[in-house]
Amino acid sequence: MLYLYNTLARTKQPFQPLNAPHVGLYVCGPTVYGDAHLGHARPAITFDVLFRYLTYLGYKVRYVRNITDVGHLEHDADEGEDKIAKKARLEQLEPMEVVQYYTNRYHRDMEALGVLPPSIEPHASGHIIEQIAFIQKILDHGYAYVVNGSVYFDVEKYSADYHYGKLSGRNLNDIVTETRELDGQAEKRHSYDFALWKKASPEHIMHWPSPWSEGFPGWHMECSAMGTKYLGEQFDIHGGGMDLMFPHHEAEIAQSCAALGHDTVRYWMHNNMITINGKKMGKSYNNFITLEQFYTGNHPLLSKPFSGMVIRFFILMAHYRSTVDFSSEALEAAEKGLQRLIEAYNRLMKLKASDASTVDVKGLREQCAEAMDDDLNTQLVIAALFDSAKAINTVYDGKGTISAEDLSELQDVWKTFVVDILGLRMEEAVEGANLEPYKGAVDLLLNMRLEAKRNKQWEVSDHIRNELTALGFSIKDSKDGFEWTL
Ligand code: ZN
Repeated sequence: MLYLYNTLARTKQPFQPLNAPHVGLYVCGPTVYGDAHLGHARPAITFDVLFRYLTYLGYKVRYVRNITDVGHLEHDADEGEDKIAKKARLEQLEPMEVVQYYTNRYHRDMEALGVLPPSIEPHASGHIIEQIAFIQKILDHGYAYVVNGSVYFDVEKYSADYHYGKLSGRNLNDIVTETRELDGQAEKRHSYDFALWKKASPEHIMHWPSPWSEGFPGWHMECSAMGTKYLGEQFDIHGGGMDLMFPHHEAEIAQSCAALGHDTVRYWMHNNMITINGKKMGKSYNNFITLEQFYTGNHPLLSKPFSGMVIRFFILMAHYRSTVDFSSEALEAAEKGLQRLIEAYNRLMKLKASDASTVDVKGLREQCAEAMDDDLNTQLVIAALFDSAKAINTVYDGKGTISAEDLSELQDVWKTFVVDILGLRMEEAVEGANLEPYKGAVDLLLNMRLEAKRNKQWEVSDHIRNELTALGFSIKDSKDGFEWTL
C-alpha cells in the first residue's frame, strides 16, 4: 500500500484515488521568464518519480503541469510589473516570444534531467475564459469584491466561513503580521487580500477583455481554473515546492472553496528546498545556478560540468521532504556514487548464470517497493541498490555464483527501479556524455588491443590503451576482457 505525506493532514496517509485506476496529478510549473535553475529541478524530479511510480503501480495518471505565462507579478506575486511583460520590454520582444523561448529551454533542461513530459501542459494565457468564469463564481458567492475594474479576494469574509491558512498552518493574525503593506495597495480592503483580476494599466501589454475591465488574471487563479478544467472539481494530488505553500496554494484552496463550496485537492504534496553552500537560493545571495550552467560547468561555484543525470541522482539521494544542501563537492560525490551504480548495472547485464546462487539476492524487489511505498523514500531505494551492487560485484569478480532464475529477477528489479522508476539513464553518467555513439568504435579498438596482447604485440596494445586514455577513456582489464567508461 502506497503511503503519501499529505501536507494538509500533516501525516502520511494511504493513497486511495477517487476513481482508480485513474489518478489526477497537478503540479505547479515554471513561470517562463528566465532559465530553469536548481530550484526548478527538485519539484520536477520529485513529481516525475511520483508519476513514474504511480504508473508502475498500474494507475493511469493524468499529469498536468502548467506553464505560467501571465499574471505572476514581481512583488509578493500580485503587485508590480508582470515578470514576462518586463522581460519582453527589456529585450524588445513580443511577450509570447519570451514565453516560447524559455518554454523551449525549460523542456530541453527537463529532458536532460530525465523528467518525462506531463500528460497536459496548459498555459495560463490560453485559459483566460476559464479563469474569468471561476472569478465570476467567487463573486457570485460573495467572497470577492470589485474596485476600479480589479477583483480582489475577500480574505476576511472567507475566513468567517472557512479556515484561510489551513495548509500552511497559519491563522489570520499570523497572516496580518507577515503581509507587507505595499504602495498601490489602496484598492484592497486588507493587505492580505489577493488579486483575482487586475485592470491593466496603459503600459501593461498583456491584457484581455472581462466583465470588470480590460486586464489580466491574478497568479493564483490559473491553477484553480486549469486544475479543475482538466482533473475535475475534486482530484487526487496537487504538488509543488514548499515555497509555494503560502500564499499560492493557500489561495488556490480558498478560491476553490469559495467558488465550489468544497476542497478540490485530496492530497497536497510539497518537496523541500535546496540550499547552496548552506544558504537559501535568492537574488540577494547571487547564487542562482541555472541548469545550463551545471551542464556546461560555467559558474564560479562549480568545479566542473555535471550532467542532468548526476543532478537527478544527487536530488534522489535525499528524501523529497528533507532539505538538500548543494555544493560542488557534494555533487562530485554524487557523481562517483552514480558511476558505481552504473558499473554494477552494466556488470549485472553481462553476468553469466551458474547452477546455484552463493549470493543472496532475494528480497530486493520488496525492499525497494517498501521504500517507495513509504512516501517515496528514494534514499532507501538507493541504499538497497548499493547493497545489491556488492553482491553483483562478488559474482562478477568470480568470488560467488548466481542461478539463472536469480539473475533474471535481479536484472528485472534493477531495470524497473533504476531506469523506470528512479528514471536514471544508465548510458550517460559523466558530464552529460552519451556513450552510445562511441560504443562500437571503442569496443572495436579494445578488441584489437586484446588480439594484440594475445599475439604479444605489446607496443600495439600499449599504444591503443595510451591513446584512448589520453582521450579521456578509462579502461579496466577484467577476466572476460575489458570495461571502459569515459
Ligand atoms: Zn500553481
